[in-house]
Amino acid sequence: MTDPNPPNAGPTIWIVSTGTEILQGHYPDTNAQWIAHELMVLGFSVERIMAIPDDHTVLGTELGFACRRCDLVIMTGGLGPTADDMNREAVAGVFGVELVEDADALADIEGRFAKRGWPMPPSNRVQAQFPSGAKVLPNPWGTAPGFVIAPPEGSDLRANLLALPGPPREMRPMFAQIATPEILARFGDGRTRLRTLTLHTVGLAEALLNERIDDLFGLDPAVNVALLAGKWRVDIRLTLKGENDTENEALAEKWRGLICERIDPISIWGEDDDEFAGVVGSLLRERCQTLALAESCTGGLIAKQITDVAGSSDYFAEGFVTYSDEAKMKRLGVSEATLAEFGAVSAETAGEMAAGAREAAGTDWALSVTGIAGPGGATREKRLGLVFFGLAMPDGRVKTRRIQAFPGRAAVRELSAVTGLDILRRGILRFGG
Ligand code: ATP
Ligand code: MG
Repeated sequence: MTDPNPPNAGPTIWIVSTGTEILQGHYPDTNAQWIAHELMVLGFSVERIMAIPDDHTVLGTELGFACRRCDLVIMTGGLGPTADDMNREAVAGVFGVELVEDADALADIEGRFAKRGWPMPPSNRVQAQFPSGAKVLPNPWGTAPGFVIAPPEGSDLRANLLALPGPPREMRPMFAQIATPEILARFGDGRTRLRTLTLHTVGLAEALLNERIDDLFGLDPAVNVALLAGKWRVDIRLTLKGENDTENEALAEKWRGLICERIDPISIWGEDDDEFAGVVGSLLRERCQTLALAESCTGGLIAKQITDVAGSSDYFAEGFVTYSDEAKMKRLGVSEATLAEFGAVSAETAGEMAAGAREAAGTDWALSVTGIAGPGGATREKRLGLVFFGLAMPDGRVKTRRIQAFPGRAAVRELSAVTGLDILRRGILRFGG
């Protein structure tokens, strides 16, 4: 593995989420996740995320540890007026300073209550207290201001500490509009720009992919390679640490090439924010081609995914949800003989469904799917999770494919939908002109 933090990687940043409720599972720590993503976009990398309870001793120990180990601690939560909000005090303790009242912040908080015609509860006064030497960060979205404090001269602390309120609807705009300029002012110069490039693959098992690109791990200290396996896809995520944006673009180009030399490029269905159904739709739109669907076991799931994409009316004509044998015959012209001889879950039926849908809808393409989602319906020959697909192509030819999915009704249906879309995607790339 490459060193995730080579010397030129910019400041080391820890995110510290505070709140006993996080550790009790009452709410997920979305603040850390959100901040980490924002930092990534800004070109910084996060070295550690930790969650700690509202406990004075633990706060003191852990914040002290964090402030000696990294360059920037970003802490959220615990700035409210209640007894469990003890972060101001904890930070003052770690930095060895007193809490002092900030007159402007106090006037601000009083003003907010006055505007609503309410007297300010005395407990809110503590929200105008800050560790001496801290810079107050105003919070127009709530009552608790944040603050940022630099390590005192001559102390063994290393970190700047940034404290933000816990509620996401306050924390997020504060981070974006008020804290970000503070971070850039302190660490902006000379930091390395990070760029991530994510290549989305489908149809390759993680282990196989790993084997194919094995030599790329650690090849270049400026490029970190990670494989992220999802339910049906594996993403190759490259973190590029060039000296500047131009260098990162060149690295991205080079590494796309290196990966395409090792795996069939058709396995890569998209990059970064691409959505699967959106990518398939774009392929149709580029070719001015249209699509119909004939779905059995997916019950319209593929149509849903296609139409989740805005603008899909450009290429999607109609979908048939033909669940019964009768519907397959009546709507799609599947022959009674085919159903009798091969059954509804068969390559023959899938093929006739696709051809019939293309014919009935008058489209360039039609995709069909028929399978055994379970829990009932399996036989000795046809096990749960057996699914057939048909693809009727612009020249009238029909191809069929089968998969054997792991059982589980929802999982079979989901895998069938993405496999169907992928069969269509590969069909368009190979035979769509
Ligand atoms: P308040 O003034 O509301 O008490 P605070 O700054 O003291 O704000 P906390 O008391 O720690 O913050 O948390 C208040 C609420 O904010 C929590 O109940 C929770 O809904 C949300 N919150 C806090 N921390 C997080 C987090 N890390 N991720 C997501 N939500 C959070
Ligand atoms: Mg609170």
